[in-house]
Amino acid sequence: MVSLDYLGENVSTTADAQRARDAYLEVFERIAKEKLHANVSCKLTQMGLDLSPEFCEGLVLSVVERAESYDNFLRVDMEGSIYTQRTVDLVKRIRARIPAVGTVIQAYLYRSEADIRDLLAYGCRIRLCKGAYKELADVAFEKKAEVDGNYVRLMQMLLPSGVYHGIATHDPLMIAKTIRWAAAQQISKDAFEFQMLYGIRTDLQRRLVQDGYRVRVYIPYGSDWFPYFMRRLAERPANLGFLLKNYFRS
Ligand SMILES: Cc1cc2nc3c(=O)[nH]c(=O)nc-3n(C[C@H](O)[C@H](O)[C@H](O)COP(=O)(O)OP(=O)(O)OC[C@H]3O[C@@H](n4cnc5c(N)ncnc54)[C@H](O)[C@@H]3O)c2cc1C
Repeated sequence: MVSLDYLGENVSTTADAQRARDAYLEVFERIAKEKLHANVSCKLTQMGLDLSPEFCEGLVLSVVERAESYDNFLRVDMEGSIYTQRTVDLVKRIRARIPAVGTVIQAYLYRSEADIRDLLAYGCRIRLCKGAYKELADVAFEKKAEVDGNYVRLMQMLLPSGVYHGIATHDPLMIAKTIRWAAAQQISKDAFEFQMLYGIRTDLQRRLVQDGYRVRVYIPYGSDWFPYFMRRLAERPANLGFLLKNYFRS
């Protein structure tokens, strides 16, 4: 399965936000027409959150309505912590009207446990990830061990909730702990899904599918690739060497 993300964030004009909305309306149609096992991920700052929260909500609502009409689903990605509260609030408001929307929680934020409780009260589907933005120590854990510890705690809140969630990570330890804990709690393999980014740990993606787990691959597309690319480099500086080697080879 995949989740399609039309690249773009922090747009500076309403016309750009409307173009993103149009791209998402179209992609839901194409998914249905091509009968793909795909849903969609978007970012609120791509839909104009920086310009006007009301305008942004109107655009997202129209995309969620389109998702619902095709029995599909829109995932609102989580961006930097200055957007967290606004994202949670917007998703809750839309979720109260239409179930075809969910969001993302980042294990590096101290606030995430409270946000999960809040969102679960709305039956909201959550993707759990570690978090990809540069955050200050007053809002986020800094040490990997702390982020990982919180990731496991939050995973243990999500899986028994009876809602279908996404466990998004390439970290073999997080995956092993999820598998072990779900088995011990008798949570079935199809009650949740693993999610990974396109092109990262494809070996692990295949192995999980072979072992009977559901796996969704996040596929960004479009031309506004720079911020996404920089976050992937920051996560794994070795990718810079990989890039340079291949750049000079070609
Ligand atoms: C499906 C999906 C959706 C996401 N959505 C969001 C979101 O909405 N908001 C947000 O803040 N973050 C999001 N992220 C990013 C996430 O927060 C992490 O930054 C990213 O997944 C790296 O963390 P990790 O869990 O893989 O663990 P890490 O501890 O960072 O990495 C574990 C191992 O994974 C591999 N790996 C990790 N990253 C890379 C990379 N870039 N290139 C090559 N190998 C790598 C390496 O082998 C590494 O040792 C998403 C991630 C996924 C998989």
